[in-house]
Amino acid sequence: MNLTIRILIGMAAGLVLGLLVQWSGVSADHFLRAFVVDGLLDAGGDIFIRSLMLMVVPLVFVSLICGAASLGGHGNMGRVGLKTIGLYLLTTAIAITIALVLALVVSPGEGAGDGIETTAFQISEPASIKDTLVDIFPRNPVAAMAEGNMLQVIVFALLIGVALSRSGAAGERIRGFFEDLNELMMKLITMLIQLAPYGVFCLMATLFTNVGWEEIYKLLAYFLTVVAALVLHMTLVYPTLLIVLGRLNPVTFLLKMREPMLVAFSTASSGATLPVTLRTIKERVGVKNEIAAFAVPLGATINMDGTAIMQGVATVFIAQFYAIDLTVADYLMVILTATMASVGTAGVPGVGLIMLTMVLTQVGLPVEGIMLIIGVDRLLDMLRTAVNITGDGTVSTIVARSENELDLETFENPQAGMVVGVK
Ligand code: ASP
Repeated sequence: MNLTIRILIGMAAGLVLGLLVQWSGVSADHFLRAFVVDGLLDAGGDIFIRSLMLMVVPLVFVSLICGAASLGGHGNMGRVGLKTIGLYLLTTAIAITIALVLALVVSPGEGAGDGIETTAFQISEPASIKDTLVDIFPRNPVAAMAEGNMLQVIVFALLIGVALSRSGAAGERIRGFFEDLNELMMKLITMLIQLAPYGVFCLMATLFTNVGWEEIYKLLAYFLTVVAALVLHMTLVYPTLLIVLGRLNPVTFLLKMREPMLVAFSTASSGATLPVTLRTIKERVGVKNEIAAFAVPLGATINMDGTAIMQGVATVFIAQFYAIDLTVADYLMVILTATMASVGTAGVPGVGLIMLTMVLTQVGLPVEGIMLIIGVDRLLDMLRTAVNITGDGTVSTIVARSENELDLETFENPQAGMVVGVK
């Protein structure tokens, strides 16, 4: 049976089990919940996420060295970098604009929030833009890897890759070693990805045992506005860009992205999904390693279109809730800061909400407003993460196409790179 179907079955089974446990009214200290759901299944979900995270640093390091080594040879690295970063910023700005317009039309914050209890929420200060910039440059590559600081690992791997391409015979020898290691990493992903149906089952079961529906009913207008903006972005913006800039069939692309989307949805982390996204972009979509190894990890770190959408709707919602009028200049400021916040948001669950403080502060809205929407954020986080990684894939594919680094035969072949069991 193909992997997507197995993941979907795991997802549905986990969801049904979680809802059954929740609706059966079993108390939290009952054996079924304490030992099975909060014990075994929670541990299973954690192990799945760990097995994905395990691959992230070595994978990015190794594949990017190989990518930079061949790209460094042609000398068009600067152009690829600019194009990729430019498109990431552009898609995020479009995302937030859609979110703002939709939220202004729907007005989810007017008269909303009655009965919402705002509990005290400790808001941690996000780092300043200056610190974020300086922090891209590693001082110690081992520390960067140990901390999983992705941008620093990317910078280090890029430098090593470029140096390799300029090191003559020694460079060639080392490059051969890294190419082999890269093969090995891809094999490891193909092995571990087979755990996905079980991992997703565990994650869904624990989540849906604890999901609070009350909050969603109270914030239905907000929730649905975010969902609608996410759907619009995914079904209109990405396909349009793929057609116009890439001359590619968006349906083929989106169908191939289904596995990373499902993993992103279940884990709510672009970072944890990265190995699956990278594998899909390379082996299923056909983007060559030169582009994929750079663009996909960069996207998982700095490109968060779904997160920007949530922030746009949340800003309008909070403004309306507190009856504060925002000017056109304020909205432009929101577009700018949310795009920056997206760059600074780490690809892990829930950070988008913390970064919202930056946006709210810029336009003088009360940061306590975050407490209004925190109750529904987990489900929205899952949805927006799926959009985040689809954006990473879309931009990587468009850049590869423009650089002639997309293998069209792989792109057109629906069977390419399908996981069919480890040989
Ligand atoms: N969970 C999101 C991601 O990993 C980030 C966020 O919006 O909180 O992409």
